[in-house]
Amino acid sequence: MNVGGALAQAGLAPIDAQVLLAFVVGRDRSWLVAHRDDVLSREHLDTYNALTRRRRDGEPVAYLTGMREFWGLPLCVTTDVLIPRPETETLVELALARLPVDADVRVLDLGTGSGAIALAIAHERPLAQVVAIDASPAALDVARANAERLSIRNVTFAASDWYGNVGVEPFDLIVSNPPYIAGGDPHLAEGDVRFEPSSALTPGGDGLDALRVIVDGAPARLVPGGTLLVEHGYDQREAVAALFQAARFTRLTAARDLAGQWRVAGGAI
Ligand code: GLN
Repeated sequence: MNVGGALAQAGLAPIDAQVLLAFVVGRDRSWLVAHRDDVLSREHLDTYNALTRRRRDGEPVAYLTGMREFWGLPLCVTTDVLIPRPETETLVELALARLPVDADVRVLDLGTGSGAIALAIAHERPLAQVVAIDASPAALDVARANAERLSIRNVTFAASDWYGNVGVEPFDLIVSNPPYIAGGDPHLAEGDVRFEPSSALTPGGDGLDALRVIVDGAPARLVPGGTLLVEHGYDQREAVAALFQAARFTRLTAARDLAGQWRVAGGAI
């Protein structure tokens, strides 16, 4: 079978079929367009058919290829980490706006997962010292491997349950994309999220428990004038702003993601 036929008979969204076939043949998607009539080897076709079957059964493309791009950085992902989302790039943008290029600032990323946020910031701000923590040793392995592969050296990783093991030196900026989906949210049983670690998606209850710990604990770990930025659910803007106010943050900010949903909250201390 040729490239065009394999793409057409996958029974998948064209983009998913293209990403999977490009992965199998070790080329990029533009190569597929120029080689629609090339005949695929038996081996490539078998591998591709196995992957398209798994995709039809619901597995996320990023877990099938082991790869997802975030902030232009190709990141390895496994089922031990959340798949980085485009909406989280909004958080990175706001973080970078607060970090001068020429200053040697300290940044903390809570619940780093694949390392996406920490690595994006560290890559853009080579003088920043970024500390990235996660409670999951398996996630830290993925994040460390990503830093190594991308030769990003200004991030240190540590196992920590939120602020439990972050040291005593204060930070200029704390960022986090914590689990924030409510425990009973039906969306947890649909689509790609079914395959993601539930500890990265939901703290249970109303979805705000992790954000409460992060917001309440931040003032004690920030320098005067330091900033906290967090990602939250589309319907949590007011609840999260109230947490920031209760913890005496000032200069509260909020931002929408590219889909127009309120997604990021921030404040200074
Ligand atoms: N944005 C993700 C989703 O809705 C959730 C990520 C998170 O809980 N931090 O699928």
